[in-house]
Amino acid sequence: MRSGYKLRLFAAAAAALILCVLFALWYPGYMRKYRLETCEKARRVLEYTYTHKVEAALTANGGREVDVDYEKLLQESYRECFGRTPGEDGRISGICRGGGTWTTTIDPETHHIRTVCDADGHGAVQTFVNEPFQYVQ
Ligand SMILES: [Zn+2]
Repeated sequence: MRSGYKLRLFAAAAAALILCVLFALWYPGYMRKYRLETCEKARRVLEYTYTHKVEAALTANGGREVDVDYEKLLQESYRECFGRTPGEDGRISGICRGGGTWTTTIDPETHHIRTVCDADGHGAVQTFVNEPFQYVQ
């Protein structure tokens, strides 16, 4: 009777230990994936905001791409999305939850942006690579 109780206690402790080990193995991967997804989503929100601003500017000036200040619209997009803008070197930290630093570049031909995060495995986000900006005539 008493040894049966000890056996059950041992089995419960072993099961709890196995669950702890499984959790410890699963959790870091889950957090890594979560941080990557939130980083990518934030960069995508920046890109959508910027694209919307460019399209609004094109619509306002009749589609003259040369008259659009893309750099200014990118700064406005950063301010609107995150409340601040990248430094003089074009880099910004503290947005990526994985500790990465972002660098956003504007393509000189298509004027679309590409935001690279230097956190491990985060890479680049560029959604509208081959899509021209839309403007309403
Ligand atoms: Zn990142």
